[in-house]
Amino acid sequence: MTDDARSNRDDAGWRNEALSRRNFLRCAGTAAGLLALDAIVGRHGGAEGAALRARMAQAAAGEPLGFDTTWQNWSGNLHSDPERAFLPFSRQDVVDVIHLAAKKGKRIRVTGSSHSFSPLVPTDEFLVYNRGMRAVSVDTSNPAHPLITVESGANGADALAEMARHGVALPTNVVLKSVTYGGLIAAGCHGSGWGNPTLSDLVESMDIIDADGMVRTYSEASVGAETMNAARLNLGLFGIIDRITLHAVPTFNVRHIDRMDLTMTAVLQNLEDIVTSHDYVDLFWWPFNDRIWVKTYDRTTEPVSLLPDQQAQEFAADFFNILLGVGFYEWLVQNTQATPDVSRFLFGFISPRDVVEPISNAIHYQDFIELLKVANTEFAIPVASDFTIVKQAWQAVLDIANALAARGQYPFNLTLNARFVRNSEALLSPAFGNEHTCFIEVLSYYNTPGWTRFSAMVAQEWIKLPGARPHWPKEFQQIPGIIPFLRGTLGHNLARFLAIRDGLRVDPGKMFVNPYLNKVLFA
Ligand SMILES: Cc1cc2nc3c(=O)[nH]c(=O)nc-3n(C[C@H](O)[C@H](O)[C@H](O)COP(=O)(O)OP(=O)(O)OC[C@H]3O[C@@H](n4cnc5c(N)ncnc54)[C@H](O)[C@@H]3O)c2cc1C
Repeated sequence: MTDDARSNRDDAGWRNEALSRRNFLRCAGTAAGLLALDAIVGRHGGAEGAALRARMAQAAAGEPLGFDTTWQNWSGNLHSDPERAFLPFSRQDVVDVIHLAAKKGKRIRVTGSSHSFSPLVPTDEFLVYNRGMRAVSVDTSNPAHPLITVESGANGADALAEMARHGVALPTNVVLKSVTYGGLIAAGCHGSGWGNPTLSDLVESMDIIDADGMVRTYSEASVGAETMNAARLNLGLFGIIDRITLHAVPTFNVRHIDRMDLTMTAVLQNLEDIVTSHDYVDLFWWPFNDRIWVKTYDRTTEPVSLLPDQQAQEFAADFFNILLGVGFYEWLVQNTQATPDVSRFLFGFISPRDVVEPISNAIHYQDFIELLKVANTEFAIPVASDFTIVKQAWQAVLDIANALAARGQYPFNLTLNARFVRNSEALLSPAFGNEHTCFIEVLSYYNTPGWTRFSAMVAQEWIKLPGARPHWPKEFQQIPGIIPFLRGTLGHNLARFLAIRDGLRVDPGKMFVNPYLNKVLFA
């Protein structure tokens, strides 16, 4: 670790300790307040009084108090009412919450930015928010192979700032900057890039706190390759992830081109050439358009051509386009017959672009996407040599959208997107065992009528394709028969994952399992 990196970590540690002390003082203050209140009002009766006294005793014993809250995810399709929620600021705070849960026989789930669409988070017991722990440090002691260490609550923006300071980057990532690394790694998230695996595959090591409150370090060197491949995508089932070290690269520039002039037919005909002749290819179809958006970016030694003015203009344009989009989609979900016209009109707002820019700009090419809420189902499809399965998956969406449109139904109104990555080594990854994987997804505006039926129809076609599997954080719970399908398709890998988890005895009492994951993986 460099001195810089060490001093950042020390700063972070100091900050966390200070925050933790503040947290402690807040708890002590609350406890004193509650005691005073109790002295004033005397003995309380009923359930409220009992709860108050229990919390006073907890505070007096120095236990984390937590707070009352309800939880819902970003897109609003999932809700829960946890008994208590906690915001730890340090590793010790996390250990305290785990000890409290053990003492009270409670289960714990963790949430980051709550952007997942599938029920990975919901719990009615203890919920831990990871955003209190967000330190980031960069180690450039080996300049060709830099490492970035993030606390689990650090999000994309937190990490980007620190990486930029050190001239390093991750070669792939999700477009959003607001999601946390705990969430990204636990759920096996991916970006784009023919030569890039998923983010979980970039993990060099991870510290995870188990059900006894013990910190365990996972790396290939310390636990071996197979156990590491279970830990790197663990859906939060190994415990609470404290910090993660990822392989980064020295930053580099890419030539980033957006084209809207190609017809979908031409792109599908030449799919293999297009995808394999670029470092990164993303395809987007706005329903009922003849043309599609082809985004490519390729590593280059050319200098950055994106001028600060242009960047500022694009930033402003992104904002206004998203606001315009929200306005149109709010209207559209009440007037679904207009979907083909609105979809063609909005596609016209996407501008062609050809610039040289740093890789991080290209990856996080769109700001403000969180302002437009969506529903989303995504599958990983193996890329066979001639891309046949990918084309079948793409065609299935067109066929279903057209068949429903012929009946006057328009549940699909945002985009069909395909990205291409390398295989994953993570046992539970839907991209495991492939040479390359196409992550394909359908998105509609979040309250579009008929979405659940439409996405289930699409998924039922995708499931028929050899090797197709749902992506963990996207909606798959609506797909009929998905649980037996998942257990079947994960097969040996699921058995290995569970055996490794059992063998490590990280969570013998299923403290970190929520009801949905229990049904999917354990029942
Ligand atoms: C608009 C949008 C765009 C997206 N684009 C992409 C994309 O390009 N590629 C992609 O792969 N995904 C994408 N996603 C999905 C998103 O990246 C994942 O849902 C990711 O998990 C969200 O991170 P989060 O911080 O919100 O985690 P959450 O959704 O809060 O949690 C996800 C999982 O991580 C677990 N977890 C979080 N922190 C910890 C911890 N400290 N210890 C143990 N477990 C933990 C949770 O328990 C849960 O199981 C997108 C989502 C949205 C809404």
